Amino acid sequence: MKVGVLALQGASARHASMLTRLGAEPVTVRSPADLTDISALVLPGGESTTMSQLLESSGLFEPLSERLAEGLPALGTCAGMILLGRDILDGRSDQRCFGAIDIDVRRNAFGRQIDSFEADLAIEGMGEGEGDRPVHAVFIRAPVVERIGTGVDVLATVEGRPVLCRQGPVIVAAFHPELGDDPRLHELFLNEVV
Ligand code: GLN
Repeated sequence: MKVGVLALQGASARHASMLTRLGAEPVTVRSPADLTDISALVLPGGESTTMSQLLESSGLFEPLSERLAEGLPALGTCAGMILLGRDILDGRSDQRCFGAIDIDVRRNAFGRQIDSFEADLAIEGMGEGEGDRPVHAVFIRAPVVERIGTGVDVLATVEGRPVLCRQGPVIVAAFHPELGDDPRLHELFLNEVV
């Protein structure tokens, strides 16, 4: 199965390694033609303002928006979460997002810990026998989910705030599941969503 990894800016390489390790074929996505064969897409962490600009200048924004509207499965992490949400708070005025999941996201606003922190998460729906083992999550200038639409499931929280959400074929994480050596979130995406 070919799974695209958006590679305009940010941390795409480790996502690609996770996908390879799980038996999928990662495809680097940098232009509209790269969308043709993919069955799913990972939008990595990085800088969402820059990614938004590069999505426009590469001509990817509109065709990707169409694929997402047609139900392309997507996993967005950190900046990827910001791009997949419906509204961005504390964004740049020209920054765009896809509205593929009904959440509003505030950039760089996780409590007072603006820079980075780590947390062990209990995740709803992890595979059998795995549910008791927490996922160690790394948060780097992480976004905060400020509004959750009615169709959105919250799969994990930190201090009562949603950090992992799903709506239909879209999963978003405020953290970086590609860092470290735990492929279970990518596995959940490939097995349950794609
Ligand atoms: N703060 C970044 C943004 O606004 C996201 C940080 C990340 O992806 N690690 O896009």
